[in-house]
Amino acid sequence: MTSLESTLHSVFGLEGFRPGQEEIVRAVLEGRDVLAVMATGSGKSLCYQLPAVAAGKRCLVVSPLISLMNDQVAKLNLLNIPAATTHSANKDDGEALAAWAERQINLYYVSPERIALPGFFEFLKRHRPDYAAVDEAHCIAQWGHDFREEYRDLGRIRREWGCPVIAVTATATPEVQREIAASLELQDPLIRVHGFYRPNLKFRARMEGGKKARFSEILRLLESLPEGAAIVYCGTRKVVDALTELLRSRKVPAFPYHAGLEADAREKAHRHFQEDARVVLVATNAFGMGVDRPDVRLVVHAQMPGSLEAYYQEAGRAGRDGLEAQCLLFFGGDDAGLQDFFIQQVLETVPSDRRDAWLGNREDKLKLMQRYAHGSACRQAALMDYFGDGERLKDGCGACDNCSETETFEISSELKKDIRIVLSGLARFGTAASFGKGVLIDCLTGKTSERGEAYGHDRLSTFGLLAHKRRPELMGLVDLLIRQGYIQQNGFKYPTLSLTAEGSAVMRDQKEPVLPKRLYDELMTRRPRRSRSAGTVASSVPGGADHGGLWQAIRSWRAETARRKGIPPYTLFWDRTIDDLCVKRPRNLDELAGVFGMGERKCASFGEELLAVLKGAASS
Ligand code: ADP
Ligand code: MG
Ligand code: ZN
Repeated sequence: MTSLESTLHSVFGLEGFRPGQEEIVRAVLEGRDVLAVMATGSGKSLCYQLPAVAAGKRCLVVSPLISLMNDQVAKLNLLNIPAATTHSANKDDGEALAAWAERQINLYYVSPERIALPGFFEFLKRHRPDYAAVDEAHCIAQWGHDFREEYRDLGRIRREWGCPVIAVTATATPEVQREIAASLELQDPLIRVHGFYRPNLKFRARMEGGKKARFSEILRLLESLPEGAAIVYCGTRKVVDALTELLRSRKVPAFPYHAGLEADAREKAHRHFQEDARVVLVATNAFGMGVDRPDVRLVVHAQMPGSLEAYYQEAGRAGRDGLEAQCLLFFGGDDAGLQDFFIQQVLETVPSDRRDAWLGNREDKLKLMQRYAHGSACRQAALMDYFGDGERLKDGCGACDNCSETETFEISSELKKDIRIVLSGLARFGTAASFGKGVLIDCLTGKTSERGEAYGHDRLSTFGLLAHKRRPELMGLVDLLIRQGYIQQNGFKYPTLSLTAEGSAVMRDQKEPVLPKRLYDELMTRRPRRSRSAGTVASSVPGGADHGGLWQAIRSWRAETARRKGIPPYTLFWDRTIDDLCVKRPRNLDELAGVFGMGERKCASFGEELLAVLKGAASS
């Protein structure tokens, strides 16, 4: 056994190195500069701690968060390793400095602000560390999601103290790696990427536009959460609050966490998260750095984040104990629009000469995030590719949705026809102007709109060809075609559609469409929202049946009546009522009063009219 290994055993109490650690430790001991990109929880700290302990060296550690520093120092002290920290909440550093000067401390944790203080910087120049470690080094990246102004000057360490530097981070694309190395002025650094393969994590992504549907799915998942913790990441504080409230009302032990809460509330949430046997944290991206609870069994993204760095950093908090854990990403709806809104907001603060580059960079990241969400290849492999991890997963991870739910099904000739109608409907729009999902479906279902008419959509041969279809079903079909790469979505806030080469081949019948069964079931059998969660009524309605046009007829009447009255359609009655009308087919006011959601008042105010619609549809 080498002396490194024996220190690993006897001091740290660990059985052996994890992939990559030993090479990095040895490089540090040789005095080389190192940039280690290792996934969250893969053991970056050890890479800079072990050399100091094993060889009795002095390491200065730069870390961005007080809680991280306190946490690590406490852990080291438990192992009887001399370590100290100085930060703004702990100003009295006389003792620590004296101990450092006398070489009684192996690891000294400081904030980047502290290093910037002239007296402190000079002190360390005199009492030079044997090497310095920069933790969470991606904070250097100017365009990154955690950019810290104080990290920008850390190049002085290498330059003015002349000591080797090891930088570690969990998130750095090759581009960010270059930025870190340049900014820290690393000299011929050893660059290593490790640990992005997390075989115990099951990645899934689900397209779902509606918040309500997402919430109820999340509730269902959390209600069945066994022991352990879960984190639900949301895009905005408002969504955090709304979801927390829903979960708590259903007795799920949930706590909110976002920057808009008082420090007390955030601390409380953090404490519960660390200590409770079964707990859910609902949070914005404000929650996370340094979170290392090992038994996080589930990380859900209730809204899609703006980059894969952010996504993986957050999702990677699941299953650090190596046991199976799930990472579920919801996407679709206005998620990309929300991220684009955030981008535009920050753009205002970017110096004008850098705006174009900055914007391009952020939009590229968002596009890659979207591509991942829509993607049909192995999720693990996609993430490892993105982060440049050398390990290859040629055959996929076998665990993610795309690996494990690959079953396709025989597409009926009717469905094939519908698919070709949708694709040619899009093609007929031409290339002069582009339109979104709503306009396409308007045209296919024969719904006139000002915009549609202005572009002559009502004169296209595809106009109204799918009028017998229900909107949610068509939405599902279009989503499915996007997901399969037959249709491409462009832009974020109001995404427009275009036909891909593949889609065009399917449209011309030169290629057979292929659809995955799981997604088809998920997206196409969408019923009207209300009836999906409802008990008795929903179960008597065959999935998505149109009842010989009756469903659509009632719906059109409702839309027309609502327009006349100037009110939203659902205030007349819900979709669930339409389902019940289709099943019960009332013939008089008495029978009508027995339909779900039809009280006496509604019967009195529009009952006769509605009965006439039912009668008309039945005889047509
Ligand atoms: P991160 O890479 O996110 O900074 P940490 O350095 O905080 O991860 O380490 C995460 C956990 O992994 C810690 O509990 C640490 O003790 C453990 N760990 C690190 N190296 C090893 C190893 N070689 N064997 C087992 N556990 C390890
Ligand atoms: Mg760390
Ligand atoms: Zn996979």
